Amino acid sequence: MSKPLLSMEDVTVEFNSHDGLLDAFSDEDPVRAVDDVSLDIEENDVVALIGESGCGKSTLGKTAIGAQRPTSGSVSYRGQDIWDAREGRGEVRVPFEEIRRSLQIIHQDPGSALNPNQRVLTSLMLPLKRWQPELSYEERQERILTLLEHVGMSPAEDFVNRYPHQLSGGEQQRVVLVRSLLVNPDVILADEAISALDVSLRVEMMDIMLELQSVFDTSYLFISHDLSNARYIAQQADGRIAVMYLGRIVEAGPVDEILENPQHPYTKVLKWATPELYEDVEADIPIREIDVPDPTDPPSGCRFHTRCPKARAACRESHPESYGVGPDHDSHCFRSDETHDYWESEPLHD
Ligand code: SF4
Repeated sequence: MSKPLLSMEDVTVEFNSHDGLLDAFSDEDPVRAVDDVSLDIEENDVVALIGESGCGKSTLGKTAIGAQRPTSGSVSYRGQDIWDAREGRGEVRVPFEEIRRSLQIIHQDPGSALNPNQRVLTSLMLPLKRWQPELSYEERQERILTLLEHVGMSPAEDFVNRYPHQLSGGEQQRVVLVRSLLVNPDVILADEAISALDVSLRVEMMDIMLELQSVFDTSYLFISHDLSNARYIAQQADGRIAVMYLGRIVEAGPVDEILENPQHPYTKVLKWATPELYEDVEADIPIREIDVPDPTDPPSGCRFHTRCPKARAACRESHPESYGVGPDHDSHCFRSDETHDYWESEPLHD
């Protein structure tokens, strides 16, 4: 079997709760922002990672592209451990510079990603100069103008001479997208990349991302707290959704499977909270507590048990493993195992 493009295996990321960095000399208990997560991204894939704010999805995304070191577990690009490549450990088959070029990021705030003192043309020339120095100035300029036209910034000759503050938020985000695509990446981490845009522009931006995906053969790890956006991009791309809760992926699978046949009680909550999907869900409010538990002191066992209306005593004891519940569809809930002790244990809540 060929290796996945990007593979995270048993990844855990811990921080010191005080300053965000894990300090080996600190007495504080570390916060597990990501806890034992495995996730693959294939060629031309779209994986929408969804969950409440603070659930660890941005940390997981940064870990996937090598911007955050995992405390344990491994992250590999085309079979090459990213951190081994970065630190020159063992036999390095894919140089770290190649990995860096291949894994790009688009942030939520495009304004902070662009140098306010640089015109658009300069911002876009720099990555091309770095990664494709063989191109002449005219070839670089031609490529930039073509791509800007492609994302609807027309006439491109006008836009390249502007500074970031002379662009709207949507235009800034398009420039950032163009900048990441200019270096022909294999994966783009889109971290809440459309959340700051007006609702009317979000679909347009996702359509542009999808169109360019087919041109550049790029995969997206699309992070969002909004299931309707995650659904849109994953459905258009025939991709997957992974649902994250308090540092763990609790359900993952093909988008239609997740939406039409959600197995994990938390996925049902997200569906219930999404107006256009609400009709399909059971009528009772599928959650007990609205407040997310303190991530510095997460619940034992299944971390969702304090909020889950289906929780039983067994849920406090151990973390559910991954159960296959359909084609490429996994859920981490004891209810997916008909023989589990869960069924014999006492309900936790009335
Ligand atoms: S394992 Fe228990 S608490 Fe966790 S989601 Fe399933 S039923 Fe709810």
